Amino acid sequence: MVTQKFSTQVLAGGPARDAVLSALASRLVAAGSPTVVLATVLVGDDGPSQKYVASKHRTANEIGISSVHVELPATATQEEVETRVAELVADPSIHGILVQLPLPSHLNADSVLDLLPPEKDVDGLTSASMGRLMRGVPGHIGCTPLGVLRLLQHYNIPTSGKHAVVVGRSTLVGLPLSVLLARKGIDCSVTLAHSRSENLEDVCRSADILISATGVAASITAEHVEPGAVVIDVGISRTDAGLVGDVDAESVNGIAGALTPMPGGTGLMTVACLMENTVNAAVMQGVRIP
Ligand code: NDP
Repeated sequence: MVTQKFSTQVLAGGPARDAVLSALASRLVAAGSPTVVLATVLVGDDGPSQKYVASKHRTANEIGISSVHVELPATATQEEVETRVAELVADPSIHGILVQLPLPSHLNADSVLDLLPPEKDVDGLTSASMGRLMRGVPGHIGCTPLGVLRLLQHYNIPTSGKHAVVVGRSTLVGLPLSVLLARKGIDCSVTLAHSRSENLEDVCRSADILISATGVAASITAEHVEPGAVVIDVGISRTDAGLVGDVDAESVNGIAGALTPMPGGTGLMTVACLMENTVNAAVMQGVRIP
């Protein structure tokens, strides 16, 4: 039986997101407000994707990043999509390109993403960007893994020498996050768990920092959390009761030392980190931003 003895700190995403965005806005103003341009590509008329793209434009414009939007019909062919993306790649006035996923099922997303050079791949999802992350050389890191790191940093959560357990090994979240946390300078010891992991509760209880990115609603409970551990919830599941995270917050409250809320936690960091990557993309392409 786990005894409740911690007043669990709430690691709200809002203040951490605002800190990232206002630092970027200040950098741009200090640099004389250079033109930095983010391009988004949306194929089809999926409602949620349209909303995500619109919020990316809104956030970009709020902090002084310009944006252009390319929309193609759901019936667009592979060649049509690749031609439009290649035009953006060749356009020196465009610094960052985001292809909104998922693409309609008749399209090969990997072939489209592979057109993006690492400098313009502000989502950090291409093989080249992943390779740069693995090798520890400058490049764009996926916005969700980077968002988790920025959240930890905002709340001064120590990482050096700590044991981080990441549950979920997707190339979108878990795998790059595990590599990022193990990087020199961040210095976690990392365990990457997944659906085949044995004794998951024990593995999770060995974590100083437990991060769940499985999309299995309320699957992380008090039994997975060592008293005082920092718990980061990346999962988002849509249920009849609304959006639910991977963490059963009621169960974990009073045991975790700190916990991200859901909603209002990690999700808010993802767009902020897209902006961070876009400003860095401009720097990589010769725009002077100190
Ligand atoms: P995937 O479905 O691609 O990956 C899920 C991972 O979780 C897999 O590695 C899978 O293991 C593992 N897994 C599934 N069930 C279990 C289980 N019972 N125990 C342990 N591991 C399990 O999902 P994504 O990585 O794309 O997304 C994960 C979650 O994060 C989703 O809810 C998504 O909505 C959310 N998300 C949130 C974002 C944010 O901004 N906060 C951004 C992006 C995603 P295996 O590999 O063995 O199958």
